Amino acid sequence: MPSEFDLIKKFFDRPARSAALGVGDDAALLRPSAGMELAVSTDLLLEGTHFRAGADARKLGHKALAVNLSDMAAMGAAPRWATLALALPAADEAWLEEFSKGFFALAGRFGVELIGGDTTRSTAQGAVPGAIVICVTILGEVPTGLALFRAGARPGDDIWVSGQLGDAALALAQPGVAAAARRLDKPEPRVELGERLRGIATAAIDVSDGFAQDLGHILQRSGAGAMVEYALLPRSDEVRKIQDEKLQARLLLSGGDDYELVFTAPQSNRGELEALSAELKLALSRVGSVQAGEPRLQVLDAQGRPMAVERGFDHFAP
Ligand code: ADP
Ligand code: MG
Repeated sequence: MPSEFDLIKKFFDRPARSAALGVGDDAALLRPSAGMELAVSTDLLLEGTHFRAGADARKLGHKALAVNLSDMAAMGAAPRWATLALALPAADEAWLEEFSKGFFALAGRFGVELIGGDTTRSTAQGAVPGAIVICVTILGEVPTGLALFRAGARPGDDIWVSGQLGDAALALAQPGVAAAARRLDKPEPRVELGERLRGIATAAIDVSDGFAQDLGHILQRSGAGAMVEYALLPRSDEVRKIQDEKLQARLLLSGGDDYELVFTAPQSNRGELEALSAELKLALSRVGSVQAGEPRLQVLDAQGRPMAVERGFDHFAP
Protein backbone atom coordinates (compact mmCIF):
# COMPACT_ATOMS: atom_id res chain seq x y z
CA MET A 1 0.00 0.00 0.00
CA PRO A 2 1.60 3.35 -1.00
CA SER A 3 1.72 5.94 1.77
CA GLU A 4 0.06 9.34 1.51
CA PHE A 5 3.51 10.81 0.91
CA ASP A 6 4.33 8.33 -1.87
CA LEU A 7 1.10 9.28 -3.62
CA ILE A 8 1.76 13.01 -3.36
CA LYS A 9 5.31 12.58 -4.63
CA LYS A 10 4.29 10.34 -7.50
CA PHE A 11 1.25 12.19 -8.77
CA PHE A 12 1.31 15.79 -7.63
CA ASP A 13 4.86 16.90 -6.88
CA ARG A 14 5.93 18.82 -9.98
CA PRO A 15 8.67 21.44 -9.97
CA ALA A 16 7.27 24.93 -9.47
CA ARG A 17 8.51 27.42 -12.06
CA SER A 18 7.11 30.77 -11.03
CA ALA A 19 6.23 30.02 -7.39
CA ALA A 20 9.11 30.65 -4.99
CA LEU A 21 8.28 27.33 -3.30
CA GLY A 22 5.83 24.66 -4.41
CA VAL A 23 4.77 21.22 -3.15
CA GLY A 24 6.79 19.63 -0.32
CA ASP A 25 7.00 22.05 2.57
CA ASP A 26 4.45 23.22 5.12
CA ALA A 27 3.29 25.99 2.82
CA ALA A 28 3.97 27.27 -0.67
CA LEU A 29 5.51 30.69 -1.24
CA LEU A 30 4.33 33.00 -4.00
CA ARG A 31 5.74 36.14 -5.49
CA PRO A 32 2.77 38.09 -6.81
CA SER A 33 3.70 40.48 -9.63
CA ALA A 34 3.96 44.19 -8.89
CA GLY A 35 0.84 46.18 -9.73
CA MET A 36 -1.39 43.13 -9.56
CA GLU A 37 -4.19 42.12 -7.22
CA LEU A 38 -4.48 38.49 -6.22
CA ALA A 39 -7.80 36.81 -7.09
CA VAL A 40 -8.59 33.69 -5.02
CA SER A 41 -11.45 31.24 -5.44
CA THR A 42 -12.35 27.72 -4.25
CA ASP A 43 -14.67 25.12 -5.75
CA LEU A 44 -15.46 21.70 -4.37
CA LEU A 45 -16.70 18.66 -6.30
CA LEU A 46 -18.48 15.94 -4.34
CA GLU A 47 -19.13 12.47 -5.70
CA GLY A 48 -22.86 11.88 -6.03
CA THR A 49 -23.62 15.60 -6.15
CA HIS A 50 -21.32 17.10 -8.78
CA PHE A 51 -20.40 13.88 -10.57
CA ARG A 52 -21.71 10.33 -10.53
CA ALA A 53 -19.89 7.46 -8.84
CA GLY A 54 -17.54 5.79 -11.31
CA ALA A 55 -17.05 8.97 -13.38
CA ASP A 56 -13.97 9.01 -15.62
CA ALA A 57 -11.01 10.14 -13.48
CA ARG A 58 -9.20 12.02 -16.26
CA LYS A 59 -12.29 14.07 -17.05
CA LEU A 60 -12.69 14.79 -13.33
CA GLY A 61 -9.14 16.09 -13.17
CA HIS A 62 -10.00 18.42 -16.05
CA LYS A 63 -13.31 19.53 -14.61
CA ALA A 64 -12.07 20.15 -11.06
CA LEU A 65 -9.60 22.68 -12.42
CA ALA A 66 -11.85 23.98 -15.23
CA VAL A 67 -14.60 25.17 -12.87
CA ASN A 68 -11.99 27.12 -10.92
CA LEU A 69 -10.41 28.59 -14.05
CA SER A 70 -13.89 29.70 -15.03
CA ASP A 71 -14.12 31.76 -11.83
CA MET A 72 -10.83 33.46 -12.70
CA ALA A 73 -12.22 34.21 -16.17
CA ALA A 74 -15.33 35.77 -14.65
CA MET A 75 -13.08 38.09 -12.59
CA GLY A 76 -10.89 39.02 -15.54
CA ALA A 77 -7.94 37.41 -13.73
CA ALA A 78 -5.07 35.43 -15.23
CA PRO A 79 -4.85 32.09 -13.38
CA ARG A 80 -1.39 31.36 -11.96
CA TRP A 81 -1.39 28.85 -9.08
CA ALA A 82 -3.66 26.17 -7.65
CA THR A 83 -3.91 23.95 -4.58
CA LEU A 84 -5.68 20.60 -4.60
CA ALA A 85 -7.31 18.91 -1.60
CA LEU A 86 -8.43 15.31 -2.16
CA ALA A 87 -10.39 12.92 0.03
CA LEU A 88 -10.40 9.43 -1.48
CA PRO A 89 -11.96 6.18 -0.27
CA ALA A 90 -8.71 4.30 -1.04
CA ALA A 91 -5.21 4.82 -2.47
CA ASP A 92 -6.25 3.95 -6.02
CA GLU A 93 -3.13 4.58 -8.11
CA ALA A 94 -4.85 3.98 -11.44
CA TRP A 95 -7.45 6.58 -10.54
CA LEU A 96 -4.80 9.07 -9.36
CA GLU A 97 -2.78 8.53 -12.54
CA GLU A 98 -5.76 9.40 -14.73
CA PHE A 99 -6.96 12.22 -12.50
CA SER A 100 -3.56 13.91 -12.43
CA LYS A 101 -3.23 13.57 -16.22
CA GLY A 102 -6.51 15.42 -16.74
CA PHE A 103 -5.59 18.04 -14.16
CA PHE A 104 -2.08 18.75 -15.45
CA ALA A 105 -3.09 18.74 -19.12
CA LEU A 106 -5.45 21.64 -18.49
CA ALA A 107 -3.10 23.35 -16.01
CA GLY A 108 -0.33 23.25 -18.62
CA ARG A 109 -2.51 24.89 -21.26
CA PHE A 110 -3.07 27.91 -19.02
CA GLY A 111 0.34 28.01 -17.32
CA VAL A 112 -1.13 27.15 -13.92
CA GLU A 113 1.18 25.57 -11.32
CA LEU A 114 0.03 23.15 -8.65
CA ILE A 115 1.73 24.48 -5.52
CA GLY A 116 0.22 22.40 -2.72
CA GLY A 117 -2.78 20.65 -1.31
CA ASP A 118 -3.88 17.95 1.07
CA THR A 119 -4.54 14.25 0.59
CA THR A 120 -6.64 12.22 2.97
CA ARG A 121 -8.65 9.02 3.10
CA SER A 122 -12.39 9.51 3.20
CA THR A 123 -13.07 6.05 4.63
CA ALA A 124 -12.69 5.84 8.40
CA GLN A 125 -11.22 2.59 9.75
CA GLY A 126 -13.85 -0.13 9.44
CA ALA A 127 -16.48 2.27 8.12
CA VAL A 128 -18.43 2.24 4.87
CA PRO A 129 -16.41 3.61 1.90
CA GLY A 130 -16.37 7.38 1.86
CA ALA A 131 -17.07 9.55 -1.15
CA ILE A 132 -14.53 11.20 -3.43
CA VAL A 133 -14.17 14.88 -2.58
CA ILE A 134 -12.07 17.17 -4.78
CA CYS A 135 -11.42 20.74 -3.69
CA VAL A 136 -9.34 23.12 -5.77
CA THR A 137 -8.30 26.62 -4.78
CA ILE A 138 -7.11 28.82 -7.59
CA LEU A 139 -5.05 31.99 -7.38
CA GLY A 140 -4.81 34.44 -10.21
CA GLU A 141 -3.61 37.94 -10.94
CA VAL A 142 -5.41 40.95 -12.30
CA PRO A 143 -4.01 44.47 -12.74
CA THR A 144 -5.06 46.60 -9.78
CA GLY A 145 -8.44 48.21 -10.43
CA LEU A 146 -9.29 46.15 -13.52
CA ALA A 147 -11.05 43.11 -11.99
CA LEU A 148 -14.55 42.38 -13.29
CA PHE A 149 -17.30 42.26 -10.68
CA ARG A 150 -20.90 41.13 -10.56
CA ALA A 151 -21.70 44.71 -9.62
CA GLY A 152 -21.21 47.35 -12.29
CA ALA A 153 -23.96 46.72 -14.86
CA ARG A 154 -25.66 49.97 -15.84
CA PRO A 155 -29.07 50.61 -17.43
CA GLY A 156 -28.65 50.69 -21.19
CA ASP A 157 -25.73 48.22 -21.18
CA ASP A 158 -25.97 45.25 -23.54
CA ILE A 159 -26.06 41.75 -22.07
CA TRP A 160 -23.70 39.30 -23.79
CA VAL A 161 -23.19 35.53 -23.58
CA SER A 162 -20.16 33.59 -24.82
CA GLY A 163 -20.43 30.25 -26.66
CA GLN A 164 -23.65 28.32 -26.28
CA LEU A 165 -26.00 27.57 -23.40
CA GLY A 166 -27.83 24.42 -22.35
CA ASP A 167 -25.58 21.64 -23.63
CA ALA A 168 -24.37 20.46 -20.22
CA ALA A 169 -27.94 20.29 -18.94
CA LEU A 170 -28.97 18.46 -22.12
CA ALA A 171 -26.32 15.83 -21.38
CA LEU A 172 -28.00 15.19 -18.01
CA ALA A 173 -31.52 15.17 -19.51
CA GLN A 174 -30.62 13.00 -22.53
CA PRO A 175 -27.38 11.08 -21.80
CA GLY A 176 -27.13 9.76 -25.37
CA VAL A 177 -26.17 13.11 -26.98
CA ALA A 178 -22.38 12.83 -27.40
CA ALA A 179 -21.61 16.49 -28.17
CA ALA A 180 -23.56 17.56 -25.10
CA ALA A 181 -21.81 14.98 -22.91
CA ARG A 182 -18.46 16.47 -23.92
CA ARG A 183 -19.61 19.89 -22.76
CA LEU A 184 -20.69 18.47 -19.40
CA ASP A 185 -17.54 16.40 -18.81
CA LYS A 186 -14.91 18.70 -20.27
CA PRO A 187 -16.03 22.32 -19.96
CA GLU A 188 -13.76 24.86 -21.64
CA PRO A 189 -13.10 27.76 -19.24
CA ARG A 190 -13.21 31.12 -21.04
CA VAL A 191 -9.96 32.34 -19.53
CA GLU A 192 -8.71 34.32 -22.52
CA LEU A 193 -12.06 36.03 -23.00
CA GLY A 194 -12.19 37.01 -19.31
CA GLU A 195 -8.81 38.68 -19.47
CA ARG A 196 -9.69 40.51 -22.68
CA LEU A 197 -12.93 41.84 -21.15
CA ARG A 198 -10.95 44.02 -18.69
CA GLY A 199 -11.92 47.60 -19.35
CA ILE A 200 -14.63 46.53 -21.83
CA ALA A 201 -17.25 44.76 -19.68
CA THR A 202 -19.02 46.53 -16.82
CA ALA A 203 -19.95 43.27 -14.99
CA ALA A 204 -19.34 39.54 -15.50
CA ILE A 205 -20.17 36.10 -14.09
CA ASP A 206 -19.69 32.54 -15.26
CA VAL A 207 -22.70 30.29 -15.85
CA SER A 208 -22.45 27.51 -13.30
CA ASP A 209 -26.02 27.39 -11.96
CA GLY A 210 -28.01 28.49 -15.03
CA PHE A 211 -28.21 31.63 -17.17
CA ALA A 212 -31.21 33.17 -15.40
CA GLN A 213 -29.88 32.59 -11.90
CA ASP A 214 -26.36 33.75 -12.69
CA LEU A 215 -27.50 36.84 -14.59
CA GLY A 216 -29.77 37.38 -11.56
CA HIS A 217 -26.65 37.67 -9.39
CA ILE A 218 -25.34 40.45 -11.65
CA LEU A 219 -28.69 42.23 -11.37
CA GLN A 220 -28.82 41.91 -7.58
CA ARG A 221 -25.28 43.17 -7.16
CA SER A 222 -25.72 45.95 -9.71
CA GLY A 223 -29.17 47.06 -8.53
CA ALA A 224 -30.67 46.90 -12.02
CA GLY A 225 -33.16 44.86 -14.05
CA ALA A 226 -32.78 43.10 -17.40
CA MET A 227 -34.75 42.33 -20.51
CA VAL A 228 -33.60 39.29 -22.51
CA GLU A 229 -34.94 38.03 -25.84
CA TYR A 230 -35.27 34.26 -25.61
CA ALA A 231 -34.75 33.80 -29.35
CA LEU A 232 -31.30 35.40 -29.09
CA LEU A 233 -29.94 32.94 -26.51
CA PRO A 234 -27.13 31.03 -28.27
CA ARG A 235 -27.76 27.29 -28.60
CA SER A 236 -26.25 24.29 -30.33
CA ASP A 237 -28.06 22.34 -33.05
CA GLU A 238 -28.67 19.61 -30.47
CA VAL A 239 -30.51 21.98 -28.16
CA ARG A 240 -32.31 23.70 -31.06
CA LYS A 241 -33.60 20.33 -32.28
CA ILE A 242 -35.44 19.60 -29.02
CA GLN A 243 -39.16 19.42 -29.86
CA ASP A 244 -40.35 19.89 -26.28
CA GLU A 245 -40.29 23.69 -26.09
CA LYS A 246 -40.55 23.74 -22.31
CA LEU A 247 -37.53 21.47 -22.00
CA GLN A 248 -35.54 23.61 -24.45
CA ALA A 249 -36.38 26.75 -22.47
CA ARG A 250 -35.46 25.04 -19.20
CA LEU A 251 -32.05 23.97 -20.57
CA LEU A 252 -31.27 27.44 -21.93
CA LEU A 253 -32.52 29.49 -19.00
CA SER A 254 -31.94 27.24 -16.00
CA GLY A 255 -29.43 24.58 -17.09
CA GLY A 256 -26.16 24.78 -15.17
CA ASP A 257 -22.57 23.67 -15.75
CA ASP A 258 -21.99 25.50 -19.06
CA TYR A 259 -19.15 27.69 -17.77
CA GLU A 260 -19.78 30.32 -20.40
CA LEU A 261 -19.40 33.98 -19.42
CA VAL A 262 -22.38 36.31 -19.12
CA PHE A 263 -21.32 39.94 -19.11
CA THR A 264 -22.61 43.44 -19.61
CA ALA A 265 -21.00 46.20 -21.66
CA PRO A 266 -21.91 49.68 -22.90
CA GLN A 267 -23.44 49.80 -26.40
CA SER A 268 -20.41 51.80 -27.51
CA ASN A 269 -18.30 48.63 -27.09
CA ARG A 270 -20.26 46.54 -29.61
CA GLY A 271 -17.71 46.90 -32.37
CA GLU A 272 -14.83 46.01 -30.08
CA LEU A 273 -16.66 42.91 -28.83
CA GLU A 274 -17.51 41.77 -32.35
CA ALA A 275 -13.84 42.10 -33.29
CA LEU A 276 -12.83 40.20 -30.14
CA SER A 277 -15.27 37.40 -30.99
CA ALA A 278 -13.70 37.04 -34.44
CA GLU A 279 -10.18 37.12 -33.00
CA LEU A 280 -10.86 34.51 -30.31
CA LYS A 281 -13.03 32.44 -32.70
CA LEU A 282 -15.61 32.37 -29.93
CA ALA A 283 -19.26 33.31 -30.47
CA LEU A 284 -20.33 36.33 -28.44
CA SER A 285 -24.08 36.90 -28.58
CA ARG A 286 -25.92 40.06 -27.58
CA VAL A 287 -29.09 38.77 -25.90
CA GLY A 288 -30.72 41.75 -24.19
CA SER A 289 -30.17 44.89 -22.18
CA VAL A 290 -29.86 46.12 -18.61
CA GLN A 291 -32.89 48.12 -17.41
CA ALA A 292 -33.30 50.73 -14.70
CA GLY A 293 -35.29 49.59 -11.67
CA GLU A 294 -35.78 46.46 -9.57
CA PRO A 295 -33.29 43.58 -10.05
CA ARG A 296 -35.80 41.56 -12.06
CA LEU A 297 -35.13 39.50 -15.19
CA GLN A 298 -37.76 39.59 -17.94
CA VAL A 299 -37.40 37.05 -20.71
CA LEU A 300 -39.52 37.75 -23.80
CA ASP A 301 -40.56 35.06 -26.31
CA ALA A 302 -40.54 35.56 -30.08
CA GLN A 303 -43.92 37.35 -29.85
CA GLY A 304 -42.63 39.71 -27.16
CA ARG A 305 -44.59 38.00 -24.37
CA PRO A 306 -42.97 37.47 -20.94
CA MET A 307 -41.93 33.86 -20.32
CA ALA A 308 -41.93 31.96 -17.04
CA VAL A 309 -38.38 31.41 -15.79
CA GLU A 310 -37.49 28.50 -13.48
CA ARG A 311 -34.93 28.93 -10.75
CA GLY A 312 -31.47 27.51 -11.42
CA PHE A 313 -29.65 25.05 -9.22
CA ASP A 314 -29.55 25.57 -5.45
CA HIS A 315 -27.85 22.96 -3.23
CA PHE A 316 -30.13 23.71 -0.29
CA ALA A 317 -33.40 24.11 -2.19
CA PRO A 318 -36.12 21.97 -0.54
P1 ADP B 1 0.98 19.04 6.19
O1 ADP B 1 1.19 17.92 7.14
O2 ADP B 1 1.79 20.27 6.49
O3 ADP B 1 -0.46 19.31 5.91
P2 ADP B 1 1.16 17.27 4.04
O4 ADP B 1 1.97 16.13 4.50
O5 ADP B 1 -0.31 17.15 4.03
O6 ADP B 1 1.61 18.55 4.82
O7 ADP B 1 1.60 17.63 2.55
C1 ADP B 1 2.95 17.60 2.18
C2 ADP B 1 3.15 18.49 0.98
O8 ADP B 1 2.41 17.96 -0.13
C3 ADP B 1 2.63 19.90 1.21
O9 ADP B 1 3.51 20.77 0.53
C4 ADP B 1 1.27 19.90 0.55
O10 ADP B 1 0.94 21.18 0.07
C5 ADP B 1 1.50 18.91 -0.60
N1 ADP B 1 0.28 18.18 -1.01
C6 ADP B 1 -0.47 17.33 -0.28
N2 ADP B 1 -1.48 16.81 -1.01
C7 ADP B 1 -1.38 17.37 -2.23
C8 ADP B 1 -2.14 17.27 -3.43
N3 ADP B 1 -3.23 16.50 -3.54
N4 ADP B 1 -1.74 18.02 -4.49
C9 ADP B 1 -0.68 18.82 -4.39
N5 ADP B 1 0.09 18.95 -3.32
C10 ADP B 1 -0.25 18.24 -2.23
MG1 MG C 1 -1.82 17.91 5.10
